[in-house]
Amino acid sequence: MTSRAVILIVDDEVSNIEIMSAVLEEDYEICFATSGEEALKVAQTVLPDLVLLDVLMPGIDGYDVCRRLKKEHLLADVPVIFTTGLNDHEAEIRGLSAGAIDYVTKPVQPVILRARVANHIELKRLRDQLAQLAVTDALTGLSNRRHLEQTLVQETARLAVTGDWLSVIMIDIDFFKLFNDTFGHPAGDRCLAMVAAALARAVHLATDLAARYGGEEFVCVLPGRDYNGALGVAQEIQRQVHSLAIPHPQSTVSSCVTVSIGVASAYCRTDMAPSQWMAHADRQLYLSKRSGRNDIFGTVFNAQDAGLISQ
Ligand code: GH3
Ligand code: MG
Ligand code: MG
Repeated sequence: MTSRAVILIVDDEVSNIEIMSAVLEEDYEICFATSGEEALKVAQTVLPDLVLLDVLMPGIDGYDVCRRLKKEHLLADVPVIFTTGLNDHEAEIRGLSAGAIDYVTKPVQPVILRARVANHIELKRLRDQLAQLAVTDALTGLSNRRHLEQTLVQETARLAVTGDWLSVIMIDIDFFKLFNDTFGHPAGDRCLAMVAAALARAVHLATDLAARYGGEEFVCVLPGRDYNGALGVAQEIQRQVHSLAIPHPQSTVSSCVTVSIGVASAYCRTDMAPSQWMAHADRQLYLSKRSGRNDIFGTVFNAQDAGLISQ
């Protein structure tokens, strides 16, 4: 069941809120604010799907509220429809240039209000869906490589400012070509999806990122986790994959599907590049493969190690 969209109605006249609420409450969750200041606070807490915003209010007016919403990372994409008694083109142009998507005049016509709100809610739903697809790997449902790379850039920059650890884990399925050769590509795809799900269970998706890097390789980004924390996650990944118990008769290291893992941890500094975490984790993964597979290798590195890792 999909949850109902949330609409924030902002108007300094309570009777206007009541009228619009009566029109919309059957189809949407309604929350409201009676001033610009309150609107900004409520919007930040409830993250509405759409805002119906009065233009003329004492204090911060509607134009200003709209501009401020558009500057907030989490609220910038929320459609804003202005509601006003002013039926003139200048107000409309000002509203649209402040970032509003549409305009309705008061007194509101229930049919028009309902139709406009429904259109914009549907457009937002489609936009959100597209945005989600753009960062998702289709086969496994994990983040895709592009999202991984974006996240790594953002997190290394953020953590370099606050001063904290970042760890990257690289995971590669052992003898996966042989698995495909034995059971066929569709079975290989199912195995990839199961390993991905095991990975997602091992990390905390609220703060960590689990991504498919390509083929049968996965990467986890763990902001704020030092080497011991990351090692714990790597061990949990290994446990979760073992407990899947997917038969792999051709593997020389186990009778079931296993993974090799490389861990790289560093204290973030502004002179370090995201690629350093990837290169170090890749190197550790290589060592894990070379040692016989189904193993975990890891390192703590610092900025000076950049040149040491080409293999
Ligand atoms: P190693 O233990 O050294 O990692 O050996 P490996 O066989 O796992 O590694 P290799 O790089 O030789 O082979 C990777 C295989 O992964 C080959 C390719 O067919 C398979 N593969 C990559 N992407 C997919 C996919 O999306 N679906 C399936 N079924 N197989 C894939
Ligand atoms: Mg492999
Ligand atoms: Mg590989």
